Amino acid sequence: MFLRGVPLVGDLIVEELKKGCGLYRPNYKQNIFSVIPTAMSLLGVEPGRPTLLSNRMVKRCLEEAYCFDVDKVVCIVADSVDVRQLPLFEKLYEAWCLLGEPVLSSVFPTVTSSAIVSIHSGLPPERHGIVGHKVWFQQLGTVVDTLKMASIRAPSMDRLVKSGVDVRVLLLENCLYRMIEGTGVAHVEIMPSSIARTGLSHILGAEDVTVEFENLVDAFSTLRSVLDKYVGRKTLINVYFDLTDAISHKYGPLSEEYRLTAHHVEEVFLHFLKHSGNDDKVAFMFFSDHGQEEVSEEKTVKVSEDEAEVVLQYLRSPPGRSGRVIHFYVKDGKEDDVRRWVEEKVGENGLLMSFDDVCKFFSLKPKGKLRGEVRSRMGDFVLVMNAGAELKFQRKEEKEKLIEEKWRGSHGSMILNELLVPLVAARADILKGLLGLGK
Ligand SMILES: [Zn+2]
Repeated sequence: MFLRGVPLVGDLIVEELKKGCGLYRPNYKQNIFSVIPTAMSLLGVEPGRPTLLSNRMVKRCLEEAYCFDVDKVVCIVADSVDVRQLPLFEKLYEAWCLLGEPVLSSVFPTVTSSAIVSIHSGLPPERHGIVGHKVWFQQLGTVVDTLKMASIRAPSMDRLVKSGVDVRVLLLENCLYRMIEGTGVAHVEIMPSSIARTGLSHILGAEDVTVEFENLVDAFSTLRSVLDKYVGRKTLINVYFDLTDAISHKYGPLSEEYRLTAHHVEEVFLHFLKHSGNDDKVAFMFFSDHGQEEVSEEKTVKVSEDEAEVVLQYLRSPPGRSGRVIHFYVKDGKEDDVRRWVEEKVGENGLLMSFDDVCKFFSLKPKGKLRGEVRSRMGDFVLVMNAGAELKFQRKEEKEKLIEEKWRGSHGSMILNELLVPLVAARADILKGLLGLGK
């Protein structure tokens, strides 16, 4: 029955901004932010958020993989696995093809901070409020690195938290996981020890149920222990790891290093599945927060310190950044100056948009009274770089490195490679069969 395959060609689920421009708007009806609400719904919890079950095609993929008949759902979020990268996993890719090739859209911007909070809140960034990686927050009067939860002026990890700031005040809407409380469904988050209870994880609303791991082998052994502990009880388990993202940035999204990392993930996951019992009916939902794009040296726009000084005089704060997206906080009356500076410097390599254009082009719908707040974070102008392009602010005195690192992958913008991620979802026994592990 799986051979029937729903013809869900990835690029059909998202629309291009303008014909031929290569930038796409996110699809909110088939989005990464609906996976965990869907998992909650499969466990009988009303998530109060849109699920994928209202999407006929995705619902059919889940039905055909027996995801409706489960006691447990394990969501595996692998950072930076796009539709083009999935074939580097081999067996998981084959399983995905047999499961109907369901594709999900990420959010704008396609950065970890915004996408991960979307995944855990069931909302797009303009609703939960983490609208970028390094963006301005007026309550704090600074651009905050939301992965580190520190001002960019004092960027050491957790600086805000350590100085007594409850960073949950940055969220514009309540946490999704409140809906699980009192339902009898257990909830566990499994995260790398380098991330658990630090930085961004403070605002996911799950610190009390977080278990840490040291590496991927430990992650899946921990998952085994969690499944054993909650035998007979409905349970939602989310596992997150970021080794795929780090390698993709450094060596490139389709590099040999990425392929080796993908094989490692697959080997450990398949080993786990092969040796898992059938005490409970467990569904697995493997997906990602965003993909990555190769950056090209020719399309890298370098801004010297002197050139940066020019634009800084028109801004209320240093610009924010979400990878290949730059956020400008513009002084009143200086809009034309900023526009001129960006057009001269960036030219064909990017698209400068006003906040209103960002909302229009990317179909963002901030809630009426919060529109001003979202604008103050997102920026008065947002520069979205085109395929392969990046904007770099250079420092005068950069120390020579022992080994010169070239970062080959990036994300944040809205090209298909960044926006479209696969969803591999099936009940454990079905997945084992598709992966050639027998029942
Ligand atoms: Zn990410």
